[in-house]
Amino acid sequence: MVAEAEMAGRVVAELREACATPAPRLNEVAAAMEGEMTAGLREEGRSKIKMIISYVDNLPTGNEEGFFYALDLGGTNFRVLRVQLAGKEKRVAKRESKEVLIPPHLMSGSASELFSFIASAVAKFVANEERNDMPDGKQRELGFTFSFPVRQTSIASGTLIKWTKAFSIQDAVGENVVAELQTAMEKKAVNIHVAALINDTVGTLAAGRYNDEDVVVGVILGTGSNAAYVEEASAIPKLEGELPKSGNMVINTEWGNFSSSCLPITEYDQALDEESLNPGEQIFEKLISGMYLGEIVRRVLLKIALLSTLFGNVNHTKLKTRFILRTPDISAMHHDETPDLSFVAEKLADNLKIRDTSLETRKMVVEICDIVTSRSARLAAAGIVGILRKIGRGVPGDERRSVVAIDGGLFEHYTEFRQCLESTLVELLGEEASRSVAVKLTKDGSGLGAALIAAAAHSQYQH
Ligand code: ADP
Ligand code: MG
Repeated sequence: MVAEAEMAGRVVAELREACATPAPRLNEVAAAMEGEMTAGLREEGRSKIKMIISYVDNLPTGNEEGFFYALDLGGTNFRVLRVQLAGKEKRVAKRESKEVLIPPHLMSGSASELFSFIASAVAKFVANEERNDMPDGKQRELGFTFSFPVRQTSIASGTLIKWTKAFSIQDAVGENVVAELQTAMEKKAVNIHVAALINDTVGTLAAGRYNDEDVVVGVILGTGSNAAYVEEASAIPKLEGELPKSGNMVINTEWGNFSSSCLPITEYDQALDEESLNPGEQIFEKLISGMYLGEIVRRVLLKIALLSTLFGNVNHTKLKTRFILRTPDISAMHHDETPDLSFVAEKLADNLKIRDTSLETRKMVVEICDIVTSRSARLAAAGIVGILRKIGRGVPGDERRSVVAIDGGLFEHYTEFRQCLESTLVELLGEEASRSVAVKLTKDGSGLGAALIAAAAHSQYQH
């Protein structure tokens, strides 16, 4: 048994070392991120991160008024939302939304099936919400949050570059997703105009800005991960045509695809990547986002189970099942404060059929969760620092207040993750400079944010 514990101890020690993210390494990551960002702004295809021009050059001010719709497609659920904006004082006067689960077979079927399913849900929602409360007969304006990499050609058109996360619908790649949605809705006789195509990060930035004018970065830490920020239009060589009047342009970085030799990558990450839907892609996302953290932990536990009998004489079928351990599960284990780690015992039993564990073994499981999650949170912080340095924010001598709006279940619900991210920002920016940088949980960027951008786009178009 002693030898077994040693064996497992060695696996954990090696994991700890391979996942180490001391500050100098994170500063390298931030610098590499900044470098890739600059390259990506110069010319299409110059960088691993796409630095997509969002065509959002005006963020909401708070003065917007009227009823607006939003559609959020990006994770496992999609949502339809209707808001009534009532100007500076009253802000969001009313808000209704509905969440619909996407049947898994539609995630890898055909584009027309997916969009038809979505259009039906929108039709139902609109009919239901407007029964007692018709807006003034005008055409309905909708902001479409589509959280996949898109080559945007204007504020309301863009072609899908590739799917990420759990989606893989081949006939949609290269297509204009706004046209597909608009057509599907026309087929269902829903009178809605898709006024803006946005990414959830851009929506988060907009929703953040609506409530706080110092918001300059929006970050998603949910199933996937991405970031958007406000760039000076003159710092975007690849931006063609006239510069926007505001002088600014929101850039959707698509940082999930960042990769660099300075990233701490383990054998588990490599295997996960090779067996994924998109091998070689979204390397940064695979290290930090909620879709993958539980899966990385599962792979470590499997290795230990194969090398030792610390988990008892278990059947490995469950442990070998990909994605059976989810990030909310590792979050529950990580936050277990019972003296005998009974939540850990419960999760191991329920998810993996591991029933007889010693307290020592359960502590080891918690440590594995901690190693994987800390690496994730610290890398996310390094990415944020890369963006802040790119725009000269939160650096010595900069007096401005800078706010980072963050959305996503990983950041919202995983307390250890969130605290680690926040303390790492202070560590990297320094006590002094970090005082002018704030992080704010900004929920519903992909809903409210999209509606706000539709409103801003619509009013610009009218004037
Ligand atoms: P999406 O990213 O799909 O739009 P969310 O922002 O709600 O949706 O994020 C959902 C993701 O957040 C889940 O896939 C999961 O990885 C993570 N998550 C949700 N709840 C928790 C939790 N309690 N602890 C840790 N992570 C969580
Ligand atoms: Mg989301």
